[in-house]
Amino acid sequence: MLDTPIEFLKGVGPQRAETLQKELHIFRYRDLLELYPFRYIDKTRFHKISHLRHDLADVQIVGKIIRIKEEGVARKKRLKAVFEDETTSMELVWFKGASWVKKSLKVGEEIVVFGKPTLYNGTFSISHPEIESLEAHKKSLVTAMQGVYPSTEKLGVKSLHSKGIAKLVHDLLEQVASYIPETLSLEIRKEYKLISKREALLNVHFPKSEALLAQAHRRLKFEEFFFIQLSMLKLKQHKKETYISYPFTNIGEHFNEFYKEQLPFELTNAQKRVLKEIRMDVASGKQMNRLVQGDVGSGKTIVALMVMLMAKDNGFQACLMAPTEILATQHFQGLKEMVEAVGMKMALLTGSVKTARRREIHADLESGELDILVGTHALLEDKVQYKNLGLAIIDEQHRFGVSQRSKMWKKNQRPPHVLVMTATPIPRTLAMTVYGDLDISLIDELPPGRKPITTVHKTDQHRLSMFHFLKQEIEKGRQVYIVYPLIEESQKLDYKDLMDGYESICRNFPQPEFQVSVVHGRMKPEDKEFEMARFVKGETNIMVATTVIEVGVNVPNASVMVVESAERFGLSQLHQLRGRVGRGAEQSYCILMSAKKLSPDAKFRLKTMVATQNGFEIADADLKLRGPGDIMGTRQSGVLNLKIGDILKDSKILQYARKIAGDVLENDPSLSSDENRPIYKEYMRAHHNKMQWSNIS
Ligand code: ADP
Ligand code: MG
Repeated sequence: MLDTPIEFLKGVGPQRAETLQKELHIFRYRDLLELYPFRYIDKTRFHKISHLRHDLADVQIVGKIIRIKEEGVARKKRLKAVFEDETTSMELVWFKGASWVKKSLKVGEEIVVFGKPTLYNGTFSISHPEIESLEAHKKSLVTAMQGVYPSTEKLGVKSLHSKGIAKLVHDLLEQVASYIPETLSLEIRKEYKLISKREALLNVHFPKSEALLAQAHRRLKFEEFFFIQLSMLKLKQHKKETYISYPFTNIGEHFNEFYKEQLPFELTNAQKRVLKEIRMDVASGKQMNRLVQGDVGSGKTIVALMVMLMAKDNGFQACLMAPTEILATQHFQGLKEMVEAVGMKMALLTGSVKTARRREIHADLESGELDILVGTHALLEDKVQYKNLGLAIIDEQHRFGVSQRSKMWKKNQRPPHVLVMTATPIPRTLAMTVYGDLDISLIDELPPGRKPITTVHKTDQHRLSMFHFLKQEIEKGRQVYIVYPLIEESQKLDYKDLMDGYESICRNFPQPEFQVSVVHGRMKPEDKEFEMARFVKGETNIMVATTVIEVGVNVPNASVMVVESAERFGLSQLHQLRGRVGRGAEQSYCILMSAKKLSPDAKFRLKTMVATQNGFEIADADLKLRGPGDIMGTRQSGVLNLKIGDILKDSKILQYARKIAGDVLENDPSLSSDENRPIYKEYMRAHHNKMQWSNIS
């Protein structure tokens, strides 16, 4: 019944059906039932015309039309009606469908007008209002709260603005109420005191009371999150059952030797825990699909290395892919000594590796001469073939697309284990939804001895004292980053800002006392590398750069990060940039320079940066500011097209639903018990429509 095409609903027909499909994606009865009001108005509350304000949303006014007039000609024709109540009068205006509307208006009849008032030349008007006779209004007053539905201009022309839609929903519910199946088990409903699906739908559209509306919302949000989580968990379960990889059962000489002889420090408890989680995955025989989230500086690299040693001890090769050439190079250089110390071979493959060397690498990979390959996207090329790839590690994954991840899978007969590392923490609730089918590990602890970074926000008037401060730090032997924004649309301007800034730095920090490096997007890769290398080696004191240094770069002696035009950076970028300092034992500083006048959002971002250094708190603030759709890579995944739930506001219900979905699957993995029959049926039905989910990762 609920799958009946919408055109068969009384009052719809083919033409309105087409508009409903195009404008609101409503194809079937059930889609209309799931078009929920986005707010409710109090139907018993009326406004007086003389009390209207332009900032009011939709209002209801009782009055009479006293005059109707048509203005303009042909396609510019519009219909105006003078409408008055006991206080004064205003205009009602129609730009479309004038002749049709005109027939339906009756002068002198008591009516209720509904719409948003706008102020023009000192008089109020409502365009395309909804109109109902006072009598009909009283009759339809089943409840004080009336849902307001999303509508569009095109629907409005077909008399399907909010009230028109409400009427369709009303008629539909009358017809199908007894066919609405329950989708949750009785046990869950009892335990969590959830009203039935049917009662929830009736009350979300036509609330009998505020209390029932709240219960309807709770039930429908729970259900929405529950089935998303159920699918995610099912998918995870399915992957675990289906994808067999190469089991790493041994902990052998390379791992042990490194752990006992080479490891330059004690691992943090968080690192140890994550390594154990990974070890369980790779030893299981199933393919590992794990996301390691760790704040900047939490020590993900060493964890990556130790997993690569596990691969070697079991006779497999490993690769490590980074999003930029600089990062890949740094990984390579940072790992080289440790890898060689345990007698293993590693190579670096990036776009700028010369053909002859490239051929050598390809050959050594295929012969098994090489144990580890570090590089950029170049690793994904078809020519890169391994003797026996067992592990692929992807650093800073948000820069890679889904299809790239899947290429990794085909580099051996069975898919290699996949470890994804990201330094952009995303809030737990979002991770649950977006990466719900991956296992997630958290490195939620920084290595000991790190001093908190002192963060300050300054404006141009403090520039001289800022320079003075930099000189003091440089005298102590520290190095300094000065970063300029680079945003695509205004590259030219940014380039000028950067070069002006660079010149001013050179003037204020003259040679030979000071040495200044510069790195920006217009330089040739080899020049970039050269400048970067000078800074890494400590030959230059200051690195002036655009955001190319954003992720991953590790220069422990650099203790000051100055961000110019900081108001133009997003929160997670600022957090990443700040993460470039505070890597050594010294007290580090982050100085955010901005204009004096700031937008409220920019103010909030800079304030957040000054207030906290916790990546997860920053991620939460970021989510609040931008909404989930804008966080890296989530838009495409489709899992965020929620009908009623809100990841941010309803995070409690979401976490709850996740837990319960987990419990249900644990007790009844195939959902075959009588108790879970309603869940199984709904899952199968929804799944049938959403097969594309299974390809997210
Ligand atoms: P990120 O997680 O940002 O990639 P890195 O792996 O670059 O962090 O580590 C940051 C720094 O911390 C490196 O210099 C690394 O050698 C050091 N480090 C990592 N783990 C520890 C530890 N357990 N104790 C002390 N220093 C550590
Ligand atoms: Mg890193």
